Amino acid sequence: MKSILDSILLESAKYINDGSVACYIPELAKADKKELGICVITNEGKQFFSGDADKFFTMQSIIKPLILLLTLMDNGIDRVRYLVGVEATGKPFDTFNYSDQALNAEHINPMVNAGAIALCTLIKGENYDEKFQRLLELVRKVSCNPDLQVDERVYLSEKATGNKNRALAYMLKAYGLVNDNVEEILDCYFKACSIKVTAMDLAQIALVFANGGIELKTNKRLFDKKYSQYINAVLMTCGMYDGSGEFALNVGVPAKSGVGGGIMAVVPNRMGIGIYSPALDKKGNSIAGIKALEELSKNLELSIF
Ligand code: GLN
Repeated sequence: MKSILDSILLESAKYINDGSVACYIPELAKADKKELGICVITNEGKQFFSGDADKFFTMQSIIKPLILLLTLMDNGIDRVRYLVGVEATGKPFDTFNYSDQALNAEHINPMVNAGAIALCTLIKGENYDEKFQRLLELVRKVSCNPDLQVDERVYLSEKATGNKNRALAYMLKAYGLVNDNVEEILDCYFKACSIKVTAMDLAQIALVFANGGIELKTNKRLFDKKYSQYINAVLMTCGMYDGSGEFALNVGVPAKSGVGGGIMAVVPNRMGIGIYSPALDKKGNSIAGIKALEELSKNLELSIF
């Protein structure tokens, strides 16, 4: 496996030049475009990695499945589904699928910004600090890494410049999908996007989603299987935004990307995969990361179809 990963990284690195690092969040523009790392953890408990698998980057949208998980655990499926739909928008991550002067649950899903921002309101907690703290604790638990922290610079950078997300949140409020103070909701969302992880952490989180909520090392159930089924289904159709169809064809497993350059891929009952490479394609997905997953999927026949 190690030699497969090494040769896949060598091949995928060629595509880095076709992409660019995210610039709309100024701190993210400082990322080193050449970094590329992959980690695979199998159901047998073996961990393999290659390249920059231990470099830290911010989760960005990869936090969305965990926001969804916490809201499902706190509220159950019906309440979550009532606020945020599950249909792919076919549009970029920061737009509404919005028409006819109406905005409702069917126009958003948990993997686009508007859906994830709306879901932050369903996290249980006395205030938004407590809601965020509970989310961070969940990420630490699922990643088996109690040391995960927020990258304060990225958080402040996004808070200072995130006017598109601000606009989305005010639209949610205008249409009655959220009622709380918009700045407080956004603060929780921006901090959540700024949690720092490595490709190794992502592989561990993916492994838990690949095993119906069971953490294999301790054989402990962290959450109900019906939640991982819900989340993996949404990842399959919406996890790579408007690139989800192509990704389903070429890789064929539930996955989530983030503009920090990470991709987390869930191979049900087989393995969790984490990738990091910050050069993105036009849809905001890691360009070498997708190439690496395409190659790995062909090599190991990972597609679930
Ligand atoms: N924090 C980013 C944003 O809200 C997350 C987007 C992404 O990773 N696609 O714009």
